[in-house]
Amino acid sequence: MKKLPLVIDPVNPGALELGHESLKSLLSGLDSNAVLRARQLERWILQGRATKFEDMSDLPAQLRSILPLKLVPLTCSVAHGSTALDGTRKLLIKLADSHTVETVLMFEDDRRTVCISTQVGCGMGCTFCASGIAGVARNLKSHEILEQLLLARNELPASERITHVVVMGMGEPMANLANLLEALSIATSPKGLGISARNVTISTVGIPGKILELAESGRKYHLAISLHAPEDALRSRLMPTNEKTGIQAILEAAGEFFTKTGRQVTYEYILLGGVNDRQEDAESLGKLLEGRKAHVNLIPFNPVDGLPWNRPDNEAIARFRQSLEKRRVSASVRKRKGADIDAACGQLRRRHEAPKAKWPSS
Ligand code: SAH
Repeated sequence: MKKLPLVIDPVNPGALELGHESLKSLLSGLDSNAVLRARQLERWILQGRATKFEDMSDLPAQLRSILPLKLVPLTCSVAHGSTALDGTRKLLIKLADSHTVETVLMFEDDRRTVCISTQVGCGMGCTFCASGIAGVARNLKSHEILEQLLLARNELPASERITHVVVMGMGEPMANLANLLEALSIATSPKGLGISARNVTISTVGIPGKILELAESGRKYHLAISLHAPEDALRSRLMPTNEKTGIQAILEAAGEFFTKTGRQVTYEYILLGGVNDRQEDAESLGKLLEGRKAHVNLIPFNPVDGLPWNRPDNEAIARFRQSLEKRRVSASVRKRKGADIDAACGQLRRRHEAPKAKWPSS
């Protein structure tokens, strides 16, 4: 029997993937008022929570029926969602090429915070992190970063909106800064999601050149640096990227960031029992940061299957914090959210895709 050729349907582009100008030119072949139609479409997707063209009630019926042949409203979808006892909602987001990333929606008083990913996997190789275990597959495109926010927002009741964004999901944001900034510019625009730039936190391993680029972008985003150790030998052991950079260059870039933006920098410090949570570590960290415009956010290690680290007990965490405060370095301990649903970054995806662990388990 003759073999039939394999026909693969071309995947239609997403409305936000095209961008405003290309969307207008596509619509100009379908409707006489492309400028208005492009604006209507974008408003439906960004603000009206529409995920289907048929729901866009003020578009002409004929256009609504042709659009699905040319475009998709969103390129990403929720492949899996789970809700923790504290309400934290974790979404496994499927991209058009079937890769998956994680997005988390958190509730705290009036705050609605979404944690977004910037890459499929991560190339930084931090030894305590689930996201980097299988390396990085690719950068997310700007519309894929934005669509995570839209899909998370669509989970909220109609009366609620996203108030805060933390770029602390999978991936290293500074390795994909241009796409991230493009997505955030729509997220923070009144025509987009209207989120205040001051409520957006970008967390990084610390890439000095990129920190300066962010400072010069003119946007008032909050910067968080994953420091995790007070001196280079230990930091390089935990975070291999430190071998190239070193703590000093990161602190200098952070100082420059503060001068340019007036925004205090947060230093994240994961607490790994017996590794970087000792009294001497707290003292060195206090010495390193005293006198700087800095806040330290202590993150007790979230256990990851197959990784050799331990979470310190509550007493050790409290002692570490007090040592910092003695040196007048302000510090807080991150609340654990969604612990019962693998909400630590990279864990849910790992559970679904189960790649082999790269790190030694002893
Ligand atoms: N690549 C960026 C952002 C993603 S990770 C960065 O490194 O900052 C966000 C934060 O979670 C980082 O501070 C990271 O070090 C921390 N983190 C990663 N794995 C963790 C784990 N198992 N437990 C606690 N914090 C973790």
